[in-house]
Amino acid sequence: MKNITSVVLLSSLGLGISCSTMKPTASTPMKDSTTMADASIKSNPFYKKSSLQYQAPEFDKIKDSDFKPAFDYGLKVNEAEIEAIANNKAAPTFENTILALENSGKVLGRATMVFYNLTSSNTNPTLQKIEADYAPIFAAHNDKIYLNSSIFNRIKAIKTEGLDAEDLRLIEVYKERFELAGADLTDAQKVKMKKINAELATLSTVFASKLLEARKNGAVLISDVKELDGLSPDELAAAKKDATDSGHDGMYQLTLLNTTQQPLLQNLKNRATREKLFKASWYRAEKGDANDTRATLEKIALLRMEKAHLMGKKSYAELNLLDQMAKTPENALHLLSQLATPAVAQAKVEEADIQALIDSQNGGFKVEPWDWNFYAEQVRKAKYDLDENEIKPYFEVNTVLEKGVFYAAKEFYGITFKERPDLPVYQPDVKAYEVFDRDGKSIAIYYLDFFTRSNKSGGAWMNNFVNQSYLDGTKPVIVNVFNFQKPAPGKPSLISFDDVTTMFHEFGHSLHGMFASQKYATISGTSVPRDFVEFPSQINEFFALEPSVLKNYALQYQTKEPIPQTLVDKIKKASKFNEGYSTTELVSAATLDMMWHSVTDKSQFKPTLEFEKDVLKKYGFTLEAVPPRYHTPYFAHIWGGGYAAGYYAYMWSDLLKSDAWDYITKHGGMTRENGDRFRKYILSVGNSKDLNVAYKEFAERNPSIAPLLKDKGFTK
Ligand SMILES: [Zn+2]
Repeated sequence: MKNITSVVLLSSLGLGISCSTMKPTASTPMKDSTTMADASIKSNPFYKKSSLQYQAPEFDKIKDSDFKPAFDYGLKVNEAEIEAIANNKAAPTFENTILALENSGKVLGRATMVFYNLTSSNTNPTLQKIEADYAPIFAAHNDKIYLNSSIFNRIKAIKTEGLDAEDLRLIEVYKERFELAGADLTDAQKVKMKKINAELATLSTVFASKLLEARKNGAVLISDVKELDGLSPDELAAAKKDATDSGHDGMYQLTLLNTTQQPLLQNLKNRATREKLFKASWYRAEKGDANDTRATLEKIALLRMEKAHLMGKKSYAELNLLDQMAKTPENALHLLSQLATPAVAQAKVEEADIQALIDSQNGGFKVEPWDWNFYAEQVRKAKYDLDENEIKPYFEVNTVLEKGVFYAAKEFYGITFKERPDLPVYQPDVKAYEVFDRDGKSIAIYYLDFFTRSNKSGGAWMNNFVNQSYLDGTKPVIVNVFNFQKPAPGKPSLISFDDVTTMFHEFGHSLHGMFASQKYATISGTSVPRDFVEFPSQINEFFALEPSVLKNYALQYQTKEPIPQTLVDKIKKASKFNEGYSTTELVSAATLDMMWHSVTDKSQFKPTLEFEKDVLKKYGFTLEAVPPRYHTPYFAHIWGGGYAAGYYAYMWSDLLKSDAWDYITKHGGMTRENGDRFRKYILSVGNSKDLNVAYKEFAERNPSIAPLLKDKGFTK
């Protein structure tokens, strides 16, 4: 993920809708300098390039205690190199300025890329402490680079004759970063900007830590198993284990996930338990205790506005959308409003169906958010005769991976995979694969981390450990992280169809990383605007339901029988079910984000809960049973992660995805020819060209909203 103000520092919360990509892009900092190295740093695993294939991290050697010295040394070297670029007496050239920047910061880059992956997926108090300690240091370091007017002036003076298109794009991207960071500001303004950035970095880390604690503490403890009627034996076993792990032996613990809705709500028959779990989720971070996030996020919103003002922009949203495909908050809000009206209308139809079912059972109550998924599941069964527990046995996680996700990639792109149990991993459950291109050449290393842990952030995401770059001679080393329930020992991991879709989604990001073909890491692979980055992942979701793929991977885990056609038909028919609900919860969350960051004057701020209520009312999100996917106090994407004024990006990517799939289906569907075309124009270009242009080259037109509304079932 591209991060304007922070290249080295990357906030560690890679949560997503079903995901997000996080990119601790190590593009700015610098070269090793042996003169500065003492003996102890020379034995640090980040000091030199890893000796493993494609410089895959040496997890068998890396210790928590290695990060601090690697950071300190990396920062010192980096500072010296930045100074050298700024003070170079020679006339500025592409080589002595842009390439010098691109070649810098290698030690810091290696260390931070591993570090921020670990703080997201396998953290501990030591790493959390280092993360908090270094957040302001990295922010300040970043400012030293991007607020450096000598370097900025050099960049502006570079003669561009003889440079190729990718060189020119790299200059453009660096120039934009310096501009957006405030390199054009006066010295007094820069001092203010540095202060704001340091405060923001600290506040984001504080927010993330509070939220992690709030999520842990928000878990619901149940002593009487009768209150958990409806949960499967596996779900009960997991709840029992979670309770034991948190020191409540003999009880059951319902652990919170990061979203408003909690998966167990679908199965819990006891309405009081459902209400308890939902409220534990909704109120998790607004209890007035040490983990209440409201004061922190209000400070973040205010500081972001002040930062935008300093840059001469009306709002943070305006500032943050300058380098995006959408360009302006108005364009983004226009897309959201085109979706909101049909989505809410559809959710009302779904609500009526659910209420009718409750009434037919003499429920005697009005549907509330904690009832929605429980009854929606029954409506789905009645309407489509589809039972989640009937289909789960066909989705064993490893089979879905190898015979589904990998199979689709082989059919469409011609690539193949080989498991690499010899490569060291950061946690015993992590698996490693090597990826081979259509001509059999090895192209990437790919890790998978499937199961949820209490020291892992919620959601699912993709990330690079090593970025592809011809300049550096590096190939992509990539990880996908998920939060699937870990099965009891000896049991298979059977996942829902939603989880299956998430696997295809995350792998779409991985393909975007694996097919990267750029000279420069800064504009390689998934280092693209936020409103483009979800496009490759979302389009890969289509393969989950592609008949030839589905038949290959959906095998009953005991008998290996393929899924019956009747069930396939039902899954396809049911795939648009509840789309009114899910689109409304996403679009309302995106609208909240955009409005928090569209504030142009301090007087427009209100206390968190009041602000949220007003926005939802103003934009027509009035269905009480359909709350936003993230309630402001736990909206980690925007307060702790890199999605501020950017959550709409998922919907922007959605627009591209539907339009592109429309193109593919009209040109023969899942053919190698289409796969090669998509790879050539979309997956392999990184950010090496204007992506509005790249899209048009692929689809031979600009995207329109009609295919998206059709995919969602909002139009016929
Ligand atoms: Zn994603």
